[in-house]
Amino acid sequence: MTTDNNDKSRHKARMQEHKAKVDERVAQAQEEKGILIVITGNGKGKSTSGFGTVTRAVGHGMSAAVVQYVKGTWPCGERDLLMKCGVPFHVMGTGFTWETQDKEKDIAAAQKAWEQTKVWLKDDSIDLVLLDEITYMLTYKYLDVDEVVAALSERPKHQNVVVTGRACHRKVMDIADTVSEVKSIKHAFDNGIKAQQGIDW
Ligand code: ATP
Ligand code: MG
Repeated sequence: MTTDNNDKSRHKARMQEHKAKVDERVAQAQEEKGILIVITGNGKGKSTSGFGTVTRAVGHGMSAAVVQYVKGTWPCGERDLLMKCGVPFHVMGTGFTWETQDKEKDIAAAQKAWEQTKVWLKDDSIDLVLLDEITYMLTYKYLDVDEVVAALSERPKHQNVVVTGRACHRKVMDIADTVSEVKSIKHAFDNGIKAQQGIDW
């Protein structure tokens, strides 16, 4: 047998072994339930991941709803697209901007967004709920973490939830099924490149 053939058969054996291990793990993963996904960390890609998951679900005919815990009335390409697909949105910041710095108003807006969130977290007909940037509401203590954890835990069994935002509270990560931390290696903004429509919002 030539060296070339030896390499090929060794590679084939390795691949077969790898496939057997993957097949075994696939066979073991039998549970079907909605999952809680947390996308946190300082790098770019958290909200785009959340909206990507909503797009993926809607593409399969699933129903989704989105709460954006953001201040101000920022434009958002994903919102414009997904609303056309019938995805309901609640945007916390409507009517408010960073400039107001009015804590009472912010808390009231966060509570209103949370009321809508609770409705969707009880709605059996919704397959996926995206809670974009909700982590900051817990950091600022605008929402009670135990109440958020309870509502997430008591949601319909098949319902999936994606939570995005930096510095996610430990209690939320503890009950999550999947937690990913997006790490910033570098960001265009650091080199003076302006945020761009279609890329950053
Ligand atoms: P994206 O919406 O692009 O997925 P993100 O949700 O991970 O970003 P946020 O902190 O919510 O991150 O970002 C809000 C805005 O700040 C976005 O326009 C994003 O491109 C930008 N941004 C994200 N990470 C960084 C960073 N490390 N440095 C500077 N700007 C950032
Ligand atoms: Mg974001």
